[in-house]
Amino acid sequence: MSSSNLGQNYPYSSESESERAATLDRTLTAHPDLAARVQSESIPGPREPRSWVWKCPTPACAGLLHAAGFARNVRAVYTVCDTCGQTYLR
Ligand SMILES: [Zn+2]
Repeated sequence: MSSSNLGQNYPYSSESESERAATLDRTLTAHPDLAARVQSESIPGPREPRSWVWKCPTPACAGLLHAAGFARNVRAVYTVCDTCGQTYLR
């Protein structure tokens, strides 16, 4: 992951902690290599009652980015797309 995908986009929506956790579980299951990547590149964030959701910037992807934690090396939220499985910083 490069810093070039560090976006400053406005959030698209928000979701409850149970929605976030369920979507993240489903996404990690659908993309077998993703869990290890998330673990190595992020640290768990605080479990907020609600978390922001962003639109995925991957071309032709209609997915949404869900918070998976905080990036290890920069001050940013580490997000995972529920559709294409790419990771982005927000
Ligand atoms: Zn996507």
